[in-house]
Order: sequence, then C-alpha cells, then structure tokens
Amino acid sequence: MKLSMFPQVFSQMFKKPWTNKFPAKYQPSSTTKYLQDVQAGKATISPPVKTPTGFRGKIQYDKEKCIGCKLCINVCPCGAIEFKPEEKKVKFYLARCCFCSQCNDVCPVNCLSMSNEFLLADTDKYAKDLIVE
Ligand code: SF4
Ligand code: SF4
Repeated sequence: MKLSMFPQVFSQMFKKPWTNKFPAKYQPSSTTKYLQDVQAGKATISPPVKTPTGFRGKIQYDKEKCIGCKLCINVCPCGAIEFKPEEKKVKFYLARCCFCSQCNDVCPVNCLSMSNEFLLADTDKYAKDLIVE
C-alpha cells in the first residue's frame, strides 16, 4: 500500500457507511422464515437508504403522450425497448435495462422519467413489475 493512501484510509474509519442493513437488520437464521414472518406481520423490513436526487430507478412511461418516434429505441444500448406497430407505442423490458436514462433524455415529448423505485429483483424476467408499457 502506498503511503499517500494512508490519510484516505484513516479518514474512512470515522465516516458512517453509505449503505445499511437491508432488508433485515440482523442476519436471520432462515431467510425463507424471515420473509414468511414479514408477510404474516410478525417481522418488519429494515428500510433501504433514501435514494439521492437524480436517482435512476424504474422507468415511468406516459403512454398517452408518446408519439411513437422510436428515438428511445435507437439510443437504448441494451435493446430493452420494443416497438408496438399496431399501437405506435413502446414496451420496456426492465430485465434488460441498465438504467442509463438515455431513452429518457432523448424523448422529444418528455413522456419518460426515472423513478426512485429499485426493488425490482425477480426470478421471472417477464414479471409484471419488469415490463413497462
Ligand atoms: S434506461 Fe437505458 S437501457 Fe434502460 S431502456 Fe432506457 S435507454 Fe435502454
Ligand atoms: S422517444 Fe418518447 S415519444 Fe418517442 S417512442 Fe420513445 S417514448 Fe415514445
């Protein structure tokens, strides 16, 4: 380790962590039982840290405002947006999305935005929560 790193390492020892223990404050003996207890109201979830300003979470889509220009599809680096020709609207597959916000930035009618929602993990990539249309 370089000597110049010491001040940085030392100052870190007195800073609070940016993360928190989520979803459980203490390691449960069984995760399945813990989640069952949460569902039954016998245990509570330790809330995640507050998202900062400008956080890029789940995409919000105002379908009515969309003019079907496909600019979002052209800039998406992940191929996460599909065009629906019959409606001239788009569909987002969040399991492919890297939350770069380029679609949001390029949309000429501002019908897209990035919300604070980030608890999107699912075993089914086509789950209702992972499709936006
Ligand atoms: S946020 Fe980025 S990766 Fe996700 S749909 Fe928009 S352009 Fe594609
Ligand atoms: S860029 Fe905006 S208006 Fe154009 S298709 Fe995408 S969501 Fe619709």
